[in-house]
Amino acid sequence: MNRYLVIYEHTCPVCNGERYIHNTEWEQANDAYDKAQAATSAELGEPADEETYYNNMRQALDAAQQALGAFWAERGYFNERNWPPEDAICYECEGSGIVREEVDLEVALYNLPSKINL
Ligand SMILES: [Zn+2]
Repeated sequence: MNRYLVIYEHTCPVCNGERYIHNTEWEQANDAYDKAQAATSAELGEPADEETYYNNMRQALDAAQQALGAFWAERGYFNERNWPPEDAICYECEGSGIVREEVDLEVALYNLPSKINL
C-alpha cells in the first residue's frame, strides 16, 4: 500500500494553546482557605492592640492553612508535598501548545479550505 501523508499542525484542543492545564479544584481550595481566614478573623473581633492584631492574624492564617489541608485530605492528599499543582503541563501537547498529527494527503486537501485562513 502506498499513500502520501502530511503533517497537520494545529492548536492543542486540550489546553487551547495555553500549554498548561489549570486545576479548577484549586479555586475551591482557595475559597476554603479564604473562608476559614475570614471566619476566624470575625470570630476574634477587633484587636485592642498591635500584639493582639498580630496574634489574631497568625490564628486566622493557621485556621486557613488547616482548612486547606482538610480540603486536600478529603480528596486523598494527606501530605502537603503531594498536593496537585495549580497548573500542570498539558498532557496532550506536552507543554508546546501545538499538536502535530499525520493526515492522509487526500483528507488534508479535502479539509484545506476550512482549516487554513489564506
Ligand atoms: Zn495542550
